[in-house]
Amino acid sequence: MLDYQEVLNTIYANAIQEKNKGIVASYIPELKHIDASNFGIHLRLITGKTYNVGQAETHFSIQSISKVLSLAYAFSLVGNKLWQRLDVEPSGNPFNHLALLELEHGIPRNPFINSGAIVIADILISNLKNPKEDFLNYVRDLTNDTSINFNKKVAQSEKNTGFTNYAAANLLKSFNNLENPVEDVLDFYFHQCAIEMNCTQLSNAFFAFANQGKCVLNKTRLTSSQAKRINAIMLTCGFYDEAGEFAFEVGLPGKSGVGGGIVALLPNEFVISVWSPGLNDKGNSKLGMQALEQFTTLTKRSIF
Ligand code: GLN
Repeated sequence: MLDYQEVLNTIYANAIQEKNKGIVASYIPELKHIDASNFGIHLRLITGKTYNVGQAETHFSIQSISKVLSLAYAFSLVGNKLWQRLDVEPSGNPFNHLALLELEHGIPRNPFINSGAIVIADILISNLKNPKEDFLNYVRDLTNDTSINFNKKVAQSEKNTGFTNYAAANLLKSFNNLENPVEDVLDFYFHQCAIEMNCTQLSNAFFAFANQGKCVLNKTRLTSSQAKRINAIMLTCGFYDEAGEFAFEVGLPGKSGVGGGIVALLPNEFVISVWSPGLNDKGNSKLGMQALEQFTTLTKRSIF
């Protein structure tokens, strides 16, 4: 029988020995003080069984991982109309790239590059009464955890320095692909990125994607078809210009964030969350990617 705890312990032992832990993101000033030696994993099987190792209960900034949750909310609110405003093709470019946006007349390549997530933020603002509060409640409901919150300092820190995101939003506006004022859309976007979770909460938040759209309390939050489509976008676009590498090394749909979190899942089997704040040069957690490669190799569980 597969001993998941032993697998996690082995991965942890390998990770803490690693000398090159990657580099903590510093372009959002509030993130640069995080200690690169943090490392945690949480695994939740579809049966409800859970395993963890290391700093699985320490909170971190989920950053771009929030783009999956905002996509899920927008998809459940407006359905396939979403795809009139953005595409579902991998970009092969960094998360903050702007050139393709211009070439493609303001239609972002996918919902996980920043420009795509900014369009999703705009759609949510147009469809919600109290956008930030409603989104936070959606995330809390998915996770079954009312303690989840924004880190306002992180949101403000990105607001002060997020010039490329302002450029992206202005470009979208010039192509008529933003309905709301740039300031409002970015305020929402910086807050969604500044949500904090630990590995346990992250696995719970993503349980619905592994469970045919049903959240941890087994309530339907997405159709199984929507869950399938979001998993497909995670597989092809979840790691920007390293999506091919992640599929090659790990073989699971997943999503990373510059806070050093990665969540990945095998539909109908499990969700696994890793946090290691040091990033590689593509902006993905260095040891997080290695840990997940070891996990799917040792357990022989991947979509391939
Ligand atoms: N908030 C970050 C940004 O917009 C998210 C980037 C990321 O996690 N890849 O730059």
